[in-house]
Amino acid sequence: MTEVRVFCPATIANVSCGFDVLGLCLDAVGDEMIIRKVDTPGVTITKITGQHLPLETDKNVAGVAALALLNAVQSNDGFEIEIHKKIKAGSGIGSSAASAAGAVFGINELLDNPFTKKELIAFAAEGEKIASGVVHADNVAPALLGGFTLVRSCQPLDVVSIPVPDELVAVVIHPQIEIRTQDARAVLKSTIPLKKAITQWGNLGALVAALYSNDYELLSRSLHDEIIEPHRSVLIPGFDAIKKASLQEGALGCGISGSGPSVFALTRGEQTAKKVAMRMAAIYQEFDVAHDIHISPINTKGTILI
Ligand code: ADP
Repeated sequence: MTEVRVFCPATIANVSCGFDVLGLCLDAVGDEMIIRKVDTPGVTITKITGQHLPLETDKNVAGVAALALLNAVQSNDGFEIEIHKKIKAGSGIGSSAASAAGAVFGINELLDNPFTKKELIAFAAEGEKIASGVVHADNVAPALLGGFTLVRSCQPLDVVSIPVPDELVAVVIHPQIEIRTQDARAVLKSTIPLKKAITQWGNLGALVAALYSNDYELLSRSLHDEIIEPHRSVLIPGFDAIKKASLQEGALGCGISGSGPSVFALTRGEQTAKKVAMRMAAIYQEFDVAHDIHISPINTKGTILI
């Protein structure tokens, strides 16, 4: 095998109460990558379609993640990468993570799988460093493994996969506005009141329990974010209206996807997801905000060969 084609899914990080630790994998939206083994050593990004992103290996998360993997195996092999972007960069659904995950997954396949998918997370997280300034795995972990993942620790990396209730569906609306990462970070406080922390870890623990026990009501009661959402939601047009309407239509919960501006809702079943999506879209039409909308089951396979 000298060439692979890879599906690299979009992801929702944080999932309300799990800031920087929880993530889930989407099915209906993702990039494609073609990775080729070549004679010239090193990693070259030969083509990017769909988005204007750097082709330089050291400026693209796919290139940096690929080099981290090749360093670890001390390989002198050469690879060419084509990235076909469907996920918009900076949308809040793990655009850079998809490329980092796809690069390490594809190269690992071409090297005959020296690493498990779980071991690949560390290399993909290295790639993420150039997108956000820090090594973080809350998008690359669900992108690679699929389902829900919890990053218990980044240093050393300790990632836990959590089961997914069958009927869970995600709705994601992406208002086409730009929120600079530094602005999204700047609104955060560096300390949190103990009372809010207690509520947050109560919700996170209960959310994980709900995912294990298929308890949709507990899931719904747990999908709250006391700490980040009150500060970041002001950067997203119509956030309160979108959230209120989603809950009225029967969503289990609604919050900011990653650092935004995308907003997600989780529902039980596709019928409710469609109703939620229609209401969300109607609100942005009313606010005159251009947007994309995705309805997606939770992807339990993660990054795969296609
Ligand atoms: P989001 O999770 O909000 O979609 P990201 O964390 O993916 O946003 O960050 C996007 C940033 O990463 C942009 O500044 C973009 O230029 C940079 N980047 C570098 N390589 C890639 C890539 N292959 N795909 C997407 N973004 C990339």
